[in-house]
Amino acid sequence: MRHDKMMIELYCTLDRTKHIPVSVSFDAVLARWSVRIMMHLLRRDRLKQFLTHHLRLHCGNRELCFVREGDVLLAEVSDMPIIDPCSVMLRHAPMICVRVQDGQLMHDLADYHRLSVMELRMLGQYPHAHVPYSRTGAIWERVHSYLRTDLHTHLSSQISSEGLLEVASMHDALYPVELLERHGITTEGLTRHAMRSTFFAPARSEKLRCEQEDCEVEGIYVRELKEHHPQAWTRFIEALHIPVDEVHTFDMLERQVYRMRNPLTKNPALVRSTLLRVAQEYRQQGIDYAELAVTAAFDTAWLRAATEAILEAEECTGVQLRLLAAIPRSLPPVEMLHQLALVKYIAQHPYVVGVDFLGYEANKTQNFAWALNHVARFAAQQARGIATDSTGWDFADDFILRVHAGENGKNPDNVSEVLDIAFRHGIRVRVGHAAYGHERDYQGIARIMGQRNQLIVEFNPDSNMAMNNIDTAEQLPITAWAQAGIPIVIASDGAGIYQTDAQQLLAAGMYAGLEDAHLEHILATEQKHCARQQALFARKQQAFITHYAHKDAFFSTLEQQTRHLKRYDAMQRLAHKRPLLIAGASGSSWSRISVNHQKEITRAIHQLVHSLDPDKIYFALGRIKHEGIGRIVDDAISEYLTYHPNSRPFDVVGMISPHQNMPTLATHLNHIVVLHGELMSVPTHMTEKLALHHGSALYIGGSAFTRDFIKRSEDLGIPFGVMAEIEGASGEKARVLESQFIFHGAAGMIHQVRTMLGDDVFRV
Ligand SMILES: [Zn+2]
Repeated sequence: MRHDKMMIELYCTLDRTKHIPVSVSFDAVLARWSVRIMMHLLRRDRLKQFLTHHLRLHCGNRELCFVREGDVLLAEVSDMPIIDPCSVMLRHAPMICVRVQDGQLMHDLADYHRLSVMELRMLGQYPHAHVPYSRTGAIWERVHSYLRTDLHTHLSSQISSEGLLEVASMHDALYPVELLERHGITTEGLTRHAMRSTFFAPARSEKLRCEQEDCEVEGIYVRELKEHHPQAWTRFIEALHIPVDEVHTFDMLERQVYRMRNPLTKNPALVRSTLLRVAQEYRQQGIDYAELAVTAAFDTAWLRAATEAILEAEECTGVQLRLLAAIPRSLPPVEMLHQLALVKYIAQHPYVVGVDFLGYEANKTQNFAWALNHVARFAAQQARGIATDSTGWDFADDFILRVHAGENGKNPDNVSEVLDIAFRHGIRVRVGHAAYGHERDYQGIARIMGQRNQLIVEFNPDSNMAMNNIDTAEQLPITAWAQAGIPIVIASDGAGIYQTDAQQLLAAGMYAGLEDAHLEHILATEQKHCARQQALFARKQQAFITHYAHKDAFFSTLEQQTRHLKRYDAMQRLAHKRPLLIAGASGSSWSRISVNHQKEITRAIHQLVHSLDPDKIYFALGRIKHEGIGRIVDDAISEYLTYHPNSRPFDVVGMISPHQNMPTLATHLNHIVVLHGELMSVPTHMTEKLALHHGSALYIGGSAFTRDFIKRSEDLGIPFGVMAEIEGASGEKARVLESQFIFHGAAGMIHQVRTMLGDDVFRV
């Protein structure tokens, strides 16, 4: 019996995510230390083997290897003087150090010595990596001065897996059996109930019924799984995040992890408790302020529930949660335009602080530069307190534009293109990731924008590692940006899915090379941002209450606007103005035009745009190539706005076919008309729309498509003009058409428009 009492034991973990439990015991009779390391929660044998080969037990001047028995590592050493501490070392770096003090076992080392999730992933994937990273130097004392914000995260990936399942249990949520079984999670003996499916686009092609739209499927109560199948419960938790020793691709994240979260994160009954839980988890990490990007922010019911929960969460935990309305960067243009229209409305709510363009960076920033320009113009107006016509809301807001850019290296210009747009409009912008790009990104305008408090770059080291975008912490250019004096923060990108927290994120930044002065810089950036948002919130809240005496008024208008967008007909809406289609040379047909003619065309279009009245006429354009007629019209409108900053902008209607995959559109586009039918039917459908709305057309150069446009315009009796002597379609047709359809040079172009549309469409 005496022997038992002399045995003291301590439980801890080798890592900070608590996936490698360790028990350390000291037997006072035998003066024996024994250490057991449990590896059953690890996924990769590679990591288990690595630990077996590289872990040592140190005691006094003794060093021992661990012996592996299945998933357990064991080391024991006897006859040790009681004053000698016992340490677990990994490649000569201390992870755990325990000593006997007053009959108890005590830890000697700070938390940051244990392995972080970034190191676990590196070892699971690349056992030859130089891990653990060094923890020497005074800077490590600072890792306790936690990060205070999480400016880059997503609600559906932020909540911890356990948190999500607890919320689901609490609310008696059902979960589809089909998904659990596909994942090898048993539901044996549990009663099945009918439930509705939850659509999940990324796995649509796999045709699971529970992921299609509006199907009835079988589900079980999440709560019952916990009660009856504890092992299945553990497996379920593990299925909701990326394992600590694994690296995923974007596809794996979507089709393995997000799909398992989907039935819960999209369940409207769980919104309130999910947000409360997120706030509690932030409280535990020491985070005071977080901005959650959410695609559901456009849904009236969701937004109503979320804003109520955010208020409650702040009252309970003191944590301030704010929302960024999120738009996928590859959304088809029409849908994107609808969401942009709604963003302008929901941004009135004090809890909505801006917009986020997110998703897998398969496309270039340029592909949706029109949308960024669109929202940037709005942000610039907001900053100046200019009312948006429909609502009368004229509160001078400070609206955040955040873009995911440089997360992977596929399109290295993505970061600089975002910076260019924001700089041009003089608005604040946040860049999420910036793991890839050019040196000039942090040497150029970023410095100026940083000095003006218009830029914050958000680094997400643990997400980048988990998603196969970097292989080591040093690969992240975070110190280069910090050194350039540009405001930066470190963020989670979804702490639940990546299994990280504020302290591990800061450590990852230090592995990447951040030094003491950089940490000061980060903390100062956070403080400045929070102070700014708080001041803004107080004023915005007041304005909101004044404008919407009942908050129901805000939500019912949002619902109306959403319904209205579905029936929205741009050309009908613009019926009080006359459309002018300008089409012709683009891409290769533009390069066939002589330089002199190109200059003449450019001069003509600029003169025309400057002389027209935006209240009387609008432009119709197709997709835009890098060079050509559409680009010149777009540039001329930009120039017009530079010279007439207080003028009402021109309306620009993009006429696009759904067959044009990710088309580049005019930066001034503010309406879209979708042309149905095949790509070859574009000239027919476009001219039919034009005829219906009493439009006119100018054709300049071009090839086969433009020839068809001209022919169809003639058939339908649309007033039009072709520019003579220009290489391509317009020059060819000018040789055979009647003179009323032909014009020469800049003066001829203006005269042609006057003949077609009358003097009325010109500025006085
Ligand atoms: Zn993100």
